Amino acid sequence: MGEQRTLLAVLAHPDDESFGIGGTLAKYAAEGVRVVLACATGGEAGEISDPSLGTKEQLAGIRERELRCACDVLGIGELHLLGYRDSGMAGSPDNDDRRSLVQTDPAEVAGKVVRLIRQVRPQVVVTFEEGGGYGHPDHMAIHRHTVAAFQAAGDPSQYPEHLAVGLEPHVPEKLYFTALPRRFFRGLAQRLSALGFDLGRLADFDWESMGVPDELCTAEIDVSAYVDIKLQAFQCHRSQLSPNGPFSLIPPEVRWDFMGTECFSLAGSRLGPGQKPETDLFAMRIG
Ligand SMILES: [Zn+2]
Repeated sequence: MGEQRTLLAVLAHPDDESFGIGGTLAKYAAEGVRVVLACATGGEAGEISDPSLGTKEQLAGIRERELRCACDVLGIGELHLLGYRDSGMAGSPDNDDRRSLVQTDPAEVAGKVVRLIRQVRPQVVVTFEEGGGYGHPDHMAIHRHTVAAFQAAGDPSQYPEHLAVGLEPHVPEKLYFTALPRRFFRGLAQRLSALGFDLGRLADFDWESMGVPDELCTAEIDVSAYVDIKLQAFQCHRSQLSPNGPFSLIPPEVRWDFMGTECFSLAGSRLGPGQKPETDLFAMRIG
């Protein structure tokens, strides 16, 4: 019955796969899709929520174990670590480390992603939108490199050294960006206010600056049956779970409602525009 459906997600840090699009990855894996994850950095510039878990020097190893745990939970069958150093938040000293993702030659990183596309041969590639969700330099960098790789992978004149080792050019059918639409944040704020939840300083927050414009959410994936699995994958990333983080302050029932849908933006397709909104990243029908 047709060829094996394959999804390649190209993300920046251990935990990006769970917090952002864990429901979608779990859903497709459960439906028999081969789900492959590329994680660009070791996440070593992140926090450690609990000092008993280890030291800052041990963080890359801790986070790799956490990532493998999340892959098992979500059903991600293949994990590729691209091996760059976490560049940290914008303006932090980690930005200047020569091993960091943002300091690496763009052609080198894009070349690794091209090689992976030619090996894995996905129909669907997923990465961050250009703002990286919240402006993390690594998210924005891996967005640029994945867009470049999506465009180069089918061109035999690009990275011809791959062809010399037997990898053929490959053009994926579609490229999607993860997208948190503004209505998500607006809805969350309204829901919390209606519950009498004290939004505190967030009451004056400019919700219109969060996420992407609503119309950029061109694919809405119903992951309501996978919220449990997604939450279980979150639990793998213990070093990143702060008991006092913003997420933990949201009442569980509200959290649950807002985790049942994940949005994506169709960024490239050789099939032309999809139905709006699409409900399946593998829909291969035009209009
Ligand atoms: Zn991240």
